[in-house]
Amino acid sequence: MESVVISCIQPRSMVFFFDMSNMKNIDQETKESFMRVAIAMAKKAAKAGDVPIGAVIVREGQIIAEGYNRTEAEQDPTLHAEMIAIREAARVLGAWRLLGCEMYVTTEPCVMCAGACVLSRLDAVYVGCESPKSGAAGSVKDILTAGDLNHTLVYEQGILRDDCADLLKSFFSHLRTRKQKEESQMGVTK
Ligand SMILES: [Zn+2]
Repeated sequence: MESVVISCIQPRSMVFFFDMSNMKNIDQETKESFMRVAIAMAKKAAKAGDVPIGAVIVREGQIIAEGYNRTEAEQDPTLHAEMIAIREAARVLGAWRLLGCEMYVTTEPCVMCAGACVLSRLDAVYVGCESPKSGAAGSVKDILTAGDLNHTLVYEQGILRDDCADLLKSFFSHLRTRKQKEESQMGVTK
């Protein structure tokens, strides 16, 4: 029932804890510092023309993997920030189970990435802003927070939310402006 109430009031920050043994009591300042690195990664994606989403994976207070969206750059629908970071972390650890690891990602993961977060046995996923059209942590589907799969994790949304949301807003606003310019130029040359 709690999640129903939470989704009705649409809070700026949501926290779900399913497996208390995964809790590490990471303080807010630490979470924000890792999210800032994820934001820096997201900016790299935007520079290359991709939707600005960035992710880092942390183990024992150290970043072991990073990723940013490269779907457009590589023309590969699986190259989301989270997938790249998960693959890199598994390579670094030499293990597909990312035990003792947490992810910081600027935007609520999609269905594919949320599935990969569960499959890789991450301890926790910390998210910046929600993704109303494709989020799989409650926005559209509920894979990360439903708690009915074979692995549950700590999920928290709202870490530097405004900064993460602004990245997306300005990216899409630039895209719209560019499209309008292109369309008006085409109109002139017709
Ligand atoms: Zn994704």
